[in-house]
Amino acid sequence: MLTIGLTGGIGSGKSSVSRLFEERGVTVIDSDIIARHVVAPGSPGLTAVVEAFGTGILRKDGTLDRAAMRDMVFRNSQTRHRLESLLHPMIWAEIDLEKSKAGTPYCMLVIPLLVESGGARGRVDRVLVVDCAASTQLERAGRRDGASPLQIQAIMDAQATREQRLAAADDVIDNEGAMDTLPAQVEALHQRYLRMAIPC
Ligand code: ADP
Repeated sequence: MLTIGLTGGIGSGKSSVSRLFEERGVTVIDSDIIARHVVAPGSPGLTAVVEAFGTGILRKDGTLDRAAMRDMVFRNSQTRHRLESLLHPMIWAEIDLEKSKAGTPYCMLVIPLLVESGGARGRVDRVLVVDCAASTQLERAGRRDGASPLQIQAIMDAQATREQRLAAADDVIDNEGAMDTLPAQVEALHQRYLRMAIPC
């Protein structure tokens, strides 16, 4: 099935854009939700993570301590690779399952770190980037999350730059303007993707 990878930095407008595709009947799969699901309490994913990294990455209630996990992989790239090689196959298996259930001509896979993560590009047919200026990201994400510009900037610094993302894009949605500039852009892409999915 034609799979469009939707990406963009924090606050760029991924959720707003994916909602508009959903309104058009497109199956939208959120990789973040799936990544949380595979390590849910009682899941084989969580068991595997505990086997590899010990019970220190669990909170008292038995759920994954994401902050501890993030700390560990932030400090050590080998740990990050180990965690990724453990969880990525599970995440992709679940994404494939979701895709197989999708009754639509194409699907949209939201991967915030698509450009940053080596393996993801090969799993999608096209990369759709939601783009706006870094200052706009800061302002919108700050307002949405009630976070300071410094906090948002720290997240942005750990993500790809606007230029890197645009260089990886097959298609771009310009989200610098008002929200009401989005539907026409989404509709035009939706029609193109439908034509690609169902060649006449
Ligand atoms: P992302 O999913 O990429 O982090 P969101 O779609 O959640 O970004 O957008 C971030 C915030 O900015 C949200 O509160 C959203 O409602 C708002 N927003 C998105 N696009 C626009 C726009 N064009 N104009 C004004 N606010 C916007």
